[in-house]
Amino acid sequence: MRKQTVRDIEIERQRVLVRVDFNVPLDEGGVILDDLRIRSALPTIQYLREQGAKVILCAHLGRPKGKIVESLRLAPIARRLAELQNAPVASAPDCIGAEVEAAVAALGEGEVLLLENLRFHPEEEANDPAFARQLAALADLYVNDAFGAAHRAHASTEGVARLLPAVAGLLMEKETAYLSRIVAEPERPLGAIIGGAKMADKMGVLRALLAKTNVLIIGGGMANTFLKAQGHAVGDSLVEDGQLEAARAVIDEAAQRNCRLLLPIDVVVADRFAADARHKTVPAGQVPEGWRILDVGDRSIATYSEALRSCRTVVWNGPLGVAEFPQFARGSATLARFLAGLDAVTIVGGGETAAMVRETGLAGRFDHISTGGGAFLQYLEGRELPGIAALRDG
Ligand code: ADP
Ligand code: MG
Repeated sequence: MRKQTVRDIEIERQRVLVRVDFNVPLDEGGVILDDLRIRSALPTIQYLREQGAKVILCAHLGRPKGKIVESLRLAPIARRLAELQNAPVASAPDCIGAEVEAAVAALGEGEVLLLENLRFHPEEEANDPAFARQLAALADLYVNDAFGAAHRAHASTEGVARLLPAVAGLLMEKETAYLSRIVAEPERPLGAIIGGAKMADKMGVLRALLAKTNVLIIGGGMANTFLKAQGHAVGDSLVEDGQLEAARAVIDEAAQRNCRLLLPIDVVVADRFAADARHKTVPAGQVPEGWRILDVGDRSIATYSEALRSCRTVVWNGPLGVAEFPQFARGSATLARFLAGLDAVTIVGGGETAAMVRETGLAGRFDHISTGGGAFLQYLEGRELPGIAALRDG
């Protein structure tokens, strides 16, 4: 469903509460490892500032579970945002209450205030109505630009949207514009690559894609369960025995639906789960006892590439191997290079997949790198995301 965006409402001089997704990875010292999510929020913030809004940003970071956790304060994020937008960002000591109200009252037009981590209050995740009212009291309008948090019905994503005129930000608009190109009327052939570790997490999206895609590629740890379901020996590979039946059902359904389903035909096996493990490439059915699959082999990538070559739209979630270990990142990196050069709409999503693609330096050659993990998967499943549903219809 189409939603109104910041372009559809009068913003001048208004106090605008903007839910952003600043849930960035930090190292142990609190240094921001990847600021994609902060950068991705810049167009909306810039637009609102240019329109003369008083911009009140709210966000969560990590899982403080309703308590103040010093290492999860948003001050370092405010500093990075100030650098990126080349203009000051004030930090509030909390996200609700008298001090915050005073900080909002002091905001000038075009100025930016970042509220403290929403999840320091248990009421945020509980979608507590009184907490949502306190957030709403800070502003005249609400903008949701936090696509990555839109699958959560929390006070700052859903509750507050019921209390103020609520519209989508430019990132939210961009995410849904790209992802709807897969969900609704994709340019065909449509290809999907699903990898990653846990099949249980991906069953929903697999089933949804099965009904839509012309080519469906399964790689990563997930593929092991499919290989085992086909009767292959998988050694000590990660396998979800509880999903063997589901894997067989996916294989059958693909055949019925004329969806070309591709599993690895060769695999890189290691003698242990470690970055420096001994490794070799073997046919998918010949994993030696005591060895485990940590990547797909070159012949698999060649087959995948051949099948994807004619696709006009390709979506990818989940690394094809244990890409954190450089030795086992080869399959994913080779596929990333292939997709970067493909004449198709290319969309990548999922925290680890997006990070891996950015590591290859090829991110700019993909059409869209989603900031969403769970939200990305649920959107592809065709589910309604509560943070989007609560916004004004366009
Ligand atoms: P995303 O965050 O992009 O959605 P996932 O979380 O689903 O991706 O999957 C990423 C994880 O999958 C990584 O931790 C990676 O090590 C793991 N993985 C991929 N292939 C294998 C494999 N063959 N065996 C074990 N783990 C794997
Ligand atoms: Mg992940």
